[in-house]
Amino acid sequence: LAPTIIDGKAEAAALTQQVAAETLALRSQGVIPGLAVVLVGSDPASAIYVRSKVRKTEAAGMKSFSHTLPAETSEEELLTLIRQLNADPEVHGILVQLPLPAHINRDAVLDTISPDKDVDGFHTVNAGKLAVGRTNGLIPCTPAGCLILLKRVISSFAGLHAVIIGCSNIVGRPMGRLLLNEGCTVVMTHLKTRDVAAEARRADILVVAAGHAHLVRKDWVKPGAVVIDVGINRIDTPDGPKITGDVAFDEVAGHAAAITPVPGGVGPMTIACLLKNTLQAARALTDKEASS
Ligand code: NAD
Repeated sequence: LAPTIIDGKAEAAALTQQVAAETLALRSQGVIPGLAVVLVGSDPASAIYVRSKVRKTEAAGMKSFSHTLPAETSEEELLTLIRQLNADPEVHGILVQLPLPAHINRDAVLDTISPDKDVDGFHTVNAGKLAVGRTNGLIPCTPAGCLILLKRVISSFAGLHAVIIGCSNIVGRPMGRLLLNEGCTVVMTHLKTRDVAAEARRADILVVAAGHAHLVRKDWVKPGAVVIDVGINRIDTPDGPKITGDVAFDEVAGHAAAITPVPGGVGPMTIACLLKNTLQAARALTDKEASS
């Protein structure tokens, strides 16, 4: 049986189209979802991500507010801007592009964003809601995208054994919590795990978010497992630099039941889920205002 290559690009295009249609409906009620993106400093990779987010936000019919601040911006100046955006009725989502310069306390910044506008889902209130299984919070975009892709190939999660490699607050931890909430038995592994390969081999669902090119080889994967590769690694090849994942795709693809490629897997889903979260935030804020 040929392995299923999960097409994240097509899934993301479909989700974006759906969000754009729902945005149009909301606009006809006089609400234009607005996303503010804040970039501190001039990291070239971050600048590329921000430009792409702005372009896709506008293409989906939303308003985009871009704030680019110099690297020397103080923490207090950044917090002041966030408080202004919290109070701005045209802004429904606020995203602060990470990483921030070292002199700024990331956690203080993330926890200053109003939880209602926290479209990245990194505020402790939203992380806490996910941790205790509440469904009314905003969920981090990358794991939310992974779950949508998993749902394309898995109809029932109950009792499945899920192993997550990497447990950052951005990807691995929320991914583990989402799958726990879906009914999986979840094992979270990280750099201090004694035998990551042995844990991985038990997985029906293996999500890899370690940031280590080709960490996962064929002998780490149970035949028939579903593998989601979150990694984005820049490697040099004889043909020049290339983006590759945390999974050795060529050897694992024939062995897994389904797998996401890099690029074209999880990556495109992240921005689509950001637009979905912005729409959700715009709706929730509008309802809140109407009932107050
Ligand atoms: P991070 O560096 O914050 O966390 C990495 C985690 O992996 C840590 O928990 C660490 O302990 C663990 N880890 C590292 N090496 C390991 C190993 N050899 N064995 C077991 N655990 C190991 O990274 P992050 O922000 O979570 O990102 C992870 C990867 O996902 C990166 O390649 C990043 O570029 C990519 N990423 C992709 C998207 C996307 O949209 N596709 C979004 C975010 C991150």
